[in-house]
Amino acid sequence: MEDAISYAFDLERYTTPERFEKIKAFAADKETPFVVVDIDRISEKYDELRRLLPYSKVYYAVKANPHDEILKMLIGKGCRFDIASVFELDQMLRLGARADDMSYGNTIKKARHIAYAYDRGIRLFATDSEEDVRKLAENAPGSRVFFRILTDGSGADWPLSRKFGAHPDTIYRLILLAAELGLDPYGISFHVGSQQRDIGQWDHAIATCRYLFDAAAQEGVRLRMINLGGGFPASYVAPTHDMELYCREITRFLEEDFGDHAPEILIEPGRSLVGDAGIMVSEVVLVSKKSEFNQYSWVYLDVGKFGGLIETIDESIKYPIFVDRESATTKQIILAGPTCDSMDILYEDTKYEVPGEITEGDRVYIFTTGAYTTSYCSINFNGFPPLKAHIYRG
Ligand SMILES: *Cc1c(COP(=O)(O)O)cnc(C)c1O
Repeated sequence: MEDAISYAFDLERYTTPERFEKIKAFAADKETPFVVVDIDRISEKYDELRRLLPYSKVYYAVKANPHDEILKMLIGKGCRFDIASVFELDQMLRLGARADDMSYGNTIKKARHIAYAYDRGIRLFATDSEEDVRKLAENAPGSRVFFRILTDGSGADWPLSRKFGAHPDTIYRLILLAAELGLDPYGISFHVGSQQRDIGQWDHAIATCRYLFDAAAQEGVRLRMINLGGGFPASYVAPTHDMELYCREITRFLEEDFGDHAPEILIEPGRSLVGDAGIMVSEVVLVSKKSEFNQYSWVYLDVGKFGGLIETIDESIKYPIFVDRESATTKQIILAGPTCDSMDILYEDTKYEVPGEITEGDRVYIFTTGAYTTSYCSINFNGFPPLKAHIYRG
């Protein structure tokens, strides 16, 4: 048989055994499926980032996990926020965030939503097109704008390529247009792709920023900010460098290109702040074989693509999966969710290895599910309710 991803992995890569025991006890009497969010873990990740990139301003990408308790904790720690819609804006204001501490980072927005955000005090916007620059000039006059450059997303497990950003030549024109229309051309942003495992991708993007800073300066426009985006890793099956190396290398790239004249630095982490803090708790619904001599059993869980695991599309993100059962044997399986849609298969090409006697009712713990799970799940498909989150305070 080919190599498979074992259920009996080295737990210490993802949590401490003591912490896991406590979370299991916390989860024991709750009806699956749900995610336990270890909020202290997020707080620790935030502190780590502050320590490793002390010169940066952290704008948490709210979409990664918009749970009120997470947002309140981060507001309390002085974090800033990158919002993508007026709905996230309303949520943040309701929770007590200040408009000054938010950026409207979505380059795709309705004119009336720009006006709404401006009216509530938002003065920092991302853009990547002429139409949007004109909408901003009209509905958010005088605001600071940053321009998103295109990256190709290579090296990332969850690329965001193509849809966002524009070619540097187009960005150059937009910078001049924004200045002409009375906006404040403030800086350049990019996103190298989510769960980016190639640190060198930041090097290319920062070099492009340098080029645009110089080109704009020649026309008398002084850019002052670089937004390094997200892309920092969480701990899935595929290994990554640690955060310390990411931050050290990025700092070096900035020094190489900007020397002592470093601009203001923003970062917009989502996944890396909240991913590791989530443990999804699921239950086996059914184990079956399609024919007697089939090599692989199918294991159906009570959570699947529509219940929060959409990032298993194309088997892009491979979650560490732990099955809580002693077993003398193991077997390789195809793992699927509970809904009546045939795309609701989690892993078929990638084989997971589970205890041979896995059976209905076994609890299955899916690690690193704090990011892009509750916010991505469907509301009522087949009548299944949206994924619940329980906040755990250790
Ligand atoms: C989603 C997003 C982020 C967060 O990316 P991660 O890879 O989850 O850290 C940051 N900035 C923007 C503009 C985004 O759309």
